[in-house]
Amino acid sequence: MNDVVLTGDRPTGPLHLGHYFGSLANRVRLQDTYPMYVLIADYQVITDRDLPGEIQRNITELLLDYLAIGIDPDKVTIFQHSAIPELNQLLLPFLSLVSVSELSRNPTVKDEIAHSSQAAVSGLMFTYPVHQAADILFCKGTLVPVGKDQLPHVEVTRLVARRFNERYGEVFPLPEAMMGERPMLKGLDGGKMSKSRGNAIALSATEDETAALIRKARTDSDRLITFDETHRPEVANLLTLAGLCLGRPPQDIAEEIGNGGAAALKGLATEAVNEFLRPIRKRRAELAETDVRAILAAGNEKARERAVATLEEVRAAMGF
Ligand code: ATP
Ligand code: MG
Repeated sequence: MNDVVLTGDRPTGPLHLGHYFGSLANRVRLQDTYPMYVLIADYQVITDRDLPGEIQRNITELLLDYLAIGIDPDKVTIFQHSAIPELNQLLLPFLSLVSVSELSRNPTVKDEIAHSSQAAVSGLMFTYPVHQAADILFCKGTLVPVGKDQLPHVEVTRLVARRFNERYGEVFPLPEAMMGERPMLKGLDGGKMSKSRGNAIALSATEDETAALIRKARTDSDRLITFDETHRPEVANLLTLAGLCLGRPPQDIAEEIGNGGAAALKGLATEAVNEFLRPIRKRRAELAETDVRAILAAGNEKARERAVATLEEVRAAMGF
């Protein structure tokens, strides 16, 4: 089968290490082998906040993050939701294929509602996994590099594709989620590292900002550093971060620190993260001087052509 990769992010803030080890590293690896689409999901920003906020700035920052980590726009189609109205038109038939109870028991939607700052939960919150089905299926995506929180949504996409094919004839492939080295990297507070939870190390943070964030991370008072995810989750989390950045097992790093205590652990983690991000940050600063938005305009055009073709096929299959 000819695989097509589709993945994306919401322009809600700068990309962080969770994105890198959950999904971005896989994208860079796959871009040489498969056609790939990367979606800047701007419409999805208003699922859990009242206003899109600094949307244009966030889109530019996201583009800079992509290019800085090595996504090659000559190989990858980078596009944005709001430029492809056909995605919203696909949402309509797709919504008819899932039940209200299927939507309301989605565990990721429940978790996002719990962390949402909105007073009332919007209808878009319940339907956005189906919106994502349109995002994935418009280009007949088959491989979806994502973090663990997205698995229920990829399941919804498979359900939509399967039911569409049953009702109207074979149009869509059933996509597979592909998780990275760390499908759920924790943030400095022990919860999922998220742009919007103030617990993330951004790829674009400065060395000093990184040091300050890690300095504030919770640890414990035991001087002997050990890797124990069950009993010492905060310490284990810093060891994990350092290990990912150094490409070494966290247990090794714990042994190396030995009786150094939290201060040594934090010092080592800060150095590891800064070392790892240095070339990415350097490239990002160079790219910031160039016109990255032109890349998005070209990607939008290409993605739109694909979406128009799929919508035609969907309408024909449904008899419209
Ligand atoms: P927000 O807080 O605004 O929802 P986010 O940090 O959760 O932002 P998203 O844009 O929602 O980021 O997610 C983009 C992609 O990154 C998804 O595939 C998601 O699974 C993955 N991802 C996000 N956070 C992590 C994490 N902590 N570990 C691994 N993957 C992650
Ligand atoms: Mg999220």
